[in-house]
Amino acid sequence: MGDEITPVRISSLTIEECAAFDFLPTAVVVFESDTILYANAVARKIFEADNTDQVLGHSVHEFIYPLDQERVVARIRRAETDNVLNPPTEFRIYTCRHHVRVIALTSQTFLVNSRIGLIATFLDMTERCAMEERLRKSDEQFQHLMNTMQDVFYRTDAEGITRYVSPSVLNILGYQPNEIIGLPAAVFYPCEEDRKALVETIKTQGYVRDFPGQMQCRDGRVIDISISSTILLDEMGQYAGVEGIWRDITQRRVLERKLEQLASRDELTGIANRRYSLEELEKRLSRYQRHGRETMVCILDLDHFKKINDQHGHLAGDQVLREFSQLVQSELRSTDHFGRLGGEEFLLVCEDSSVANTTLLANRILQKVGSHPVHVNAQTITYVTVSIGATTMEARDTSSSNILSRADDALYKAKTAGRNRICWFAEIPVRSEV
Ligand code: GH3
Ligand code: MG
Ligand code: MG
Repeated sequence: MGDEITPVRISSLTIEECAAFDFLPTAVVVFESDTILYANAVARKIFEADNTDQVLGHSVHEFIYPLDQERVVARIRRAETDNVLNPPTEFRIYTCRHHVRVIALTSQTFLVNSRIGLIATFLDMTERCAMEERLRKSDEQFQHLMNTMQDVFYRTDAEGITRYVSPSVLNILGYQPNEIIGLPAAVFYPCEEDRKALVETIKTQGYVRDFPGQMQCRDGRVIDISISSTILLDEMGQYAGVEGIWRDITQRRVLERKLEQLASRDELTGIANRRYSLEELEKRLSRYQRHGRETMVCILDLDHFKKINDQHGHLAGDQVLREFSQLVQSELRSTDHFGRLGGEEFLLVCEDSSVANTTLLANRILQKVGSHPVHVNAQTITYVTVSIGATTMEARDTSSSNILSRADDALYKAKTAGRNRICWFAEIPVRSEV
């Protein structure tokens, strides 16, 4: 590839006249037959010469970096024979201290002391080249990261328009980046309010970490995502958009929900376990305190359960517990809570109910349980019954333990009164003085 060259009229100067270049702010070197005859102060500084002897009388080849020799020498030869202005080119030099520097040099044919020579001016480009190299490297690393990362990197402007999105978006949403860039980011949110909430939070606190959200894929699927982003400000400090990453956490969410369910279920019966039931009781107590909805709380305890285990074996007992849970559940409304407190003891909470309605429900349960034979291993258990202790939530209840203890008292009453019945907690009336 040849440089573009311009024929010039040859001027002439003597070495003494070169002194005029000493004060130029750009580097000037004059040489003839590859020998440096003159170098001004800026040139000597770039060459890192401590004195003129380190430059003057030396061959230009001493300074040209070996890999650039051929190209540079060709330019010198061409200028000498064709009387041309060599356009600027960049090449590497060795300084007197053996450092490598990059210079941008232009040269022109001159008659120096009546002989064909060259005058060259140049700039030190080392810093710029190093910066470009650093930029190129960091850009390469960035592209590599963008191409290989699982998360999606994105940037939106102040209007919420996507200005950049990494190629990883294809694997997750099914869109190519260029199908997304230029569109409002909100288009991909199934719930526009979610995006507004995200932007508002970023604007007020400057960033978000693991912010929950959802996105809609090309095939219509809605996925759960987690967003970590930072605010972008312009030079005036004004909001200029958002930059960050988001990741698909759908699988994690599914797993979390499964674990949550596992942690709240009783393994044997599949209904709510003790921990979850007590939490529900607390929740319903605070709802009762806020809204005053009448709420009934019952403890159900199977009668003579030990006998069932003793006569038919533990596995038969388990089967009774399972079938009992199913029977009770089939009698309940979706708003009722039913769970296993442990052993053969269960909790029932009926919101928006009354003593009368809960008594009716309890009697239905007693009737169903009492008339339901349980078949296990060719045996039939026909005498399963349950006792129920019931109480109402009261305005004075500050914790669920008070309520449970009243229900327990009522249960004790039901047991001592002959079992297979419901008893309500009743205060022992304080005898008034007559
Ligand atoms: P009551 O009518 O007074 O309630 O008598 P009960 O026999 O039901 O009460 P007790 O507390 O004496 O016995 C409860 C029994 O329940 C004892 C225990 O071995 C049994 N049990 C507790 N958990 C399980 C379980 O998961 N499976 C089985 N098969 N039995 C259990
Ligand atoms: Mg029992
Ligand atoms: Mg018991």
